[in-house]
This record gives sequence, C-alpha cells and structure tokens, in this order.
Amino acid sequence: MRYQNTYINLDTRLYHEQPPTPLDNPRAGHFNMQVAQQLGWTDDEDLMTHWVEILSGQYVPADFKPLAMVYAGHQFGQWAGQLGDGRGLLMAQVLDHNNQLQDLHLKGIGLTPYSRMGDGRAVLRSTIREYLCGHALTQLGVPSSNALGFVVSDTRVRRERMEAGAALMRVADSHIRLGHIEWIASFAPDLLAEFTDYMIDTYYPECRDSDAPILTFLTTVVERTARMIADWQLIGFAHGVMNTDNLSITGSTLDFGPFGFMERFNPAWINNHSDHTGRYAYQNQPAIGHWNLNAWLPHFMRLEGVTREALADCLAPYEATFMQHYQQGLCRRLGLPHAKESLTLAFEWLTLLEDNLLDYTNSFRALLSLVAPDEHHYEEQLLSTMMNELSDDAQQVWQDWSTRYIAQIQQLPLEQVIDDMQHNNPVYVLRNSMAQRAITAAEQEQFEEVSRVFDLLANPYQVQAIATLLDTMPPTPHAPKMPISCSS
Ligand code: AMP
Ligand code: MG
Repeated sequence: MRYQNTYINLDTRLYHEQPPTPLDNPRAGHFNMQVAQQLGWTDDEDLMTHWVEILSGQYVPADFKPLAMVYAGHQFGQWAGQLGDGRGLLMAQVLDHNNQLQDLHLKGIGLTPYSRMGDGRAVLRSTIREYLCGHALTQLGVPSSNALGFVVSDTRVRRERMEAGAALMRVADSHIRLGHIEWIASFAPDLLAEFTDYMIDTYYPECRDSDAPILTFLTTVVERTARMIADWQLIGFAHGVMNTDNLSITGSTLDFGPFGFMERFNPAWINNHSDHTGRYAYQNQPAIGHWNLNAWLPHFMRLEGVTREALADCLAPYEATFMQHYQQGLCRRLGLPHAKESLTLAFEWLTLLEDNLLDYTNSFRALLSLVAPDEHHYEEQLLSTMMNELSDDAQQVWQDWSTRYIAQIQQLPLEQVIDDMQHNNPVYVLRNSMAQRAITAAEQEQFEEVSRVFDLLANPYQVQAIATLLDTMPPTPHAPKMPISCSS
C-alpha cells in the first residue's frame, strides 16, 4: 500500500498515539475483496496473510501509525464538549488505486483517553450493521465510508446482555468531522489556521486556485453535505444520529448506529428509538444538515478576513443545492426529465405511497413494469402486490396518476427511460430485518448469511437469483417497529 500518514504530523494536542488493545482469539467475519484491491492491500502478502490479526489488534504492521483523534460535538442539539475516538484508532492513511486518500480506522479496539464511560469495544451486532450499511450505500452510489472487513472474538462485552466483541476496519476518505473544528475552537483555537490549511490541502486542494480558498472550501463542504443528504432522502436512508461529531467534512456518510432504510413510506419515520422528539426523523434530515453547518461555520470567523457576512454566503447555497439534487434524482427515479410537470407527478406519487403505506423501494421499482410491460417479470410481481394493497379510493387515484404518468413517458425515448429507472431504483436495500437475520446467524458463528446479503447488496440495482422473498418484503402495515438497540 502507498502510505501517506499525514495526520500524525499535526499538532500533538489533536490526537493520542497508541496501539490497539487486542481482542481474544479472533476469527474472520467477512473480508471485502473489492475494497482490499482498491486500497492496494491485496498487493502485500503480509497484509493478506495476517488480516485477521491486524483487524483484531494483535499485529500492527510497521507502516501503520495508530492514533486516537480528539473532537467535540453537538449531540441532539446540545453542546456535548470533548469527544473523540473512544474505541477506534486511525491506523493508517493510504493512497488508493484512484489516488484518493483513504483512512484505515479500526473500530472496537480498546480504551483510549477519549473513551469517557465506554469500554472501548464494539459488539458483533453493531459491527455487522455498520459493515453491511457502508457497503450498501457505497454500491447504491451514495458517498459513504465502507469497510475492509470485520472479525469476531472471544472477548466478552457487556451491553443489555453479554455479547461477543468484534472489530471493523473502516475505510473512509476522511475521519475529520465537523466536531473537530468545534474541539479546536473550544480547546486549542491557536490551531485553527493550521488545521484549516491541512483540510484544504488534503481534501480540497482545488480550492487553492480560488481568490478566497477558505470561503471556497467552506462553500464546497456545504454543497457536498447538501448533496449527500439529498442522496439519503432519495434512497430512503435515515442516519439516525446526525450529531455534528458524526458528519464528515468530505460530505461522506460516517458513523452508523441506529440507521435505517425506508420501508413503508412515512416521512415522519424515526428510526432511532432514543430520539424521543424525532429530531433525526427522515424528513428532518435536510434541515438538520443546515442546523449543523450553521453551528459549525461561525468558528471560522476567528480566521483573518473571514466575516459573518462571508460565512452567511457560504451557507446560502445549501438549500438550492439540496433541492436541485433531490428534485433531479426524484425525477430520474421516475424516468422523467427534471421539469415542473415531472415534479408534480413525483410529489403526487409520494403522497400515494404515504397514504397507503406502500414500500418505498419496491413501489418505485414496480413502475418499470408499467413503463415496459412484458419485459420485467419481477417488477410485474411488485406492481401486483402494490395494487393489492390499495384501497378502492386509492385505486382510483392510482388509475388517474398512472394514466398521466404514462402519457409523459410516451413522449420520451423509451430505452433511456428504462436505463434511468433501472439504475436509480434499487431492488435491494439493507432492510433492518435482513441485517437482523445475518446477525442472528453470525452470533452462532455462521457467516454465510452475512456473505449472501453482502453479495446481494454488491449489485443492488439488479434482480438476483440469490435473493429470497424475505429480502424484498417490508413489514406488514402498522406492524410494531422492530426494536433496534441503540447500544453498540
Ligand atoms: P457515537 O454515538 O457512536 O457516535 O459515539 C459518540 C462518542 O462516544 C464517540 O466519541 C465514541 O468514540 C464514544 N463511544 C461510543 N461507544 C463507546 C464505547 N463502547 N467505548 C468508548 N467510547 C465509546
Ligand atoms: Mg460517532
């Protein structure tokens, strides 16, 4: 691998250098060969042979420079003060085959100075959820951290019950969170200029060409965050814990806890059971992204030449960027051009889904059989399931809507429409029930189901023979929510 460990050259107040605390008797959970190839991990025999030892913290290759990062954050809208890598370590930074800098971050690997009340460990359950979710989002085309693999061990970890300790090697384009700046502003303001330079040079070098590199950098973070959240809304992803310490400065999805993928469409859906006020409900995500950036940007006023007005200008494009990306994506899911009539149809369609509690993923995909009947057997089945779930009144609404929809489609080149719809409407997303079945088997040391779900999600836009009916089946309407423990 081409190592480029640069974080370790920053001021030592920003991190704590330390090795991992190994897990006992580690065993392989799953290994992501595609990520390994992209990183250049596969080119190194030592890394390939010893991946389980490395992921369990038993062996630290010489080029790895493990360190825990300190940061801070606003959690559920409240200032939480100092936080940091309480159970994870940045192990190495490498240039991947696309010349993209990637962080290798090992999670579940023991206490650090930032562990607070925690034990420094991660359980198998949450490790598998994070592993499969990063993979799912990446393959769906949503910017996200991913992972190289995970291991399980004999180390016992106490949560609501005793569970197996596990560790995940997370791979992300950056682990710098909005909360890093919040920590610096509160605890080491003299570092702000140097750290801002580091962020620009490392992650946003193109901003150096601008007349005002810092403002261009901040605007780009705003725009990337808006686009990431638009992608979440489009695919039906709810992050669940959008605290400022869980948002990356690269606009890439980070830190998976009680996340979820939309099943029966309900914009007010709250996936995180600890979120009693619904602050992080699916429909609130765009506004929360704005809230977080608005809490973040004023810290840069400490820098020379950065004014309150200039920062307001950096935040201003958030809403338009979000809207543009979201509306464009929504139209594309229907196979329609980005136009006013398409949006009218799109919002009527979402209302139909909501009123009838239809499955978000399946319903969009079902439309393919309307657009190109006879060619899409799987989608025909989805459509007939959907029709059976409509009330008599809703049947009428559907007839009216689909007639107008088809009239729009008929004005367009059909091949292009089908292509757009196939590549923007997934067949498979990581439903909570799917993840749960993989976890239940893995807790019995059987990882075949993790592997099968992983393979399914590797090609989420294609109907696959390895799928079962359960993979695409939403819970029954009004079914009690599946309890997803927030402990991890
Ligand atoms: P999260 O809610 O997972 O984003 O974590 C919030 C903060 O708590 C971060 O600083 C984590 O590093 C820390 N943390 C979470 N779980 C543990 C744990 N089991 N041991 C130590 N620190 C933890
Ligand atoms: Mg976090």
